[in-house]
Amino acid sequence: MIRLSDTYVRYASGVEALRGVNLTVTDGEFVFIVGPSGAGKSTLLKLLTAEIRPSAGLALVNSVSISRLKRRHVPKLRRSLGVVYQDFRLIERMNVFENVAFAMRVVGVSDSKKIRKRVMYVLELVGLAEKADRMPAELSGGEQQRVAIARALVNNPDIIIADEPTGNLDPEKSRELMELLAEINELGSTVLVITHEKELVNSFHKRVVYLDNGCVVGDAIGGYSGEAVE
Ligand code: ADP
Repeated sequence: MIRLSDTYVRYASGVEALRGVNLTVTDGEFVFIVGPSGAGKSTLLKLLTAEIRPSAGLALVNSVSISRLKRRHVPKLRRSLGVVYQDFRLIERMNVFENVAFAMRVVGVSDSKKIRKRVMYVLELVGLAEKADRMPAELSGGEQQRVAIARALVNNPDIIIADEPTGNLDPEKSRELMELLAEINELGSTVLVITHEKELVNSFHKRVVYLDNGCVVGDAIGGYSGEAVE
């Protein structure tokens, strides 16, 4: 669960990127986070991953308070989150299988049978099991993004956060990717998607949180700002 209550983030420059945000996302929800450039979306992501701390107010991720979180407990928090970035961030010299397996190894899993089983399960889920031996450069943008999703899922995080995951994809691939994220949500993960894709957001009947100038200015099921979806 995520709970922000009257949360402020002020950067050292004095810019207030979040200004009194109230937001609760319960387990199993699917939420689009939208809003213009500079609205505070990336700041929200950095707050949830404890890259930055609130300057005032509460920020809870799975009952962990970001304000109070000790530095040594940050890796544990991050393991409960699977983050998918716009630019994929795959390791170019590793094949698809190894890119996903690496995410398990870095958190201390060493049983290769267990790794193989889990990696192949998530690659199956994202539709890439047959391409496990390919190198990232041999894949399309959409496929690379699906590897990034498999990697985010592999350690079974409670919450998946995708930051502009369709930023580098064409409209058809963008829709497929959003559908994949919706399927992952149906399997039980909480999913947050930060996006600019207004038409795509409006075509999914999901909760949309609209940020503007550091504040939540819309929060409703449906389209942007809760506009009714025809
Ligand atoms: P978005 O992701 O919605 O485009 P951001 O969270 O990146 O918005 O930015 C929100 C505001 O905070 C903007 O005014 C931006 O210029 C400012 N900002 C973002 N990062 C920093 C930083 N590291 N230092 C100072 N100001 C920042």
